[in-house]
Amino acid sequence: MPPSSGACIFCDIVARRSPAHIVYEDARCLAFLDLFPFTRGHVLVVPKLHVDRLVDLPPEAYPALLAALASVCRQLERLTPHYNIASNQGELAGQIVFHLHFHVIPRYTGASPFHDKPRGRLADAEAHELLAALRPTERT
Ligand code: 5GP
Ligand code: ZN
Repeated sequence: MPPSSGACIFCDIVARRSPAHIVYEDARCLAFLDLFPFTRGHVLVVPKLHVDRLVDLPPEAYPALLAALASVCRQLERLTPHYNIASNQGELAGQIVFHLHFHVIPRYTGASPFHDKPRGRLADAEAHELLAALRPTERT
């Protein structure tokens, strides 16, 4: 069951009750820029169906989510062929938003971008430049 309105920020983004910089959408999935990116072009891929975590997702939703993830990877490969795909499951694993999501985190140098320090908020100008660079095409 989806949580009631306002209970889940990613459901609010899916329902367009909250803004986001959307880079990919299909009937079952959405992908948008992370508001506090580890690196330039950090994207979150979510099923539109609210589930807290992967083990709660109905198996019939697996193919669409994997296809959406691959499409987003193809888009991000316009920025760099190097990236991490990650999904935090549970609070101790770093999950903060309890709506299943996969991070796709572009890598531009060998230095690890992962740290506990607060990350900067995505600037609007950078978001708009990224939206233009990542715009879906017939090949994605
Ligand atoms: P988690 O730690 O749960 O795996 O990751 C949650 C991610 O969601 C974080 O990287 C965080 O920056 C991002 N995030 C949290 N709130 C929002 C929001 O309102 N909009 C967007 N676009 N990203 C968010
Ligand atoms: Zn949700």
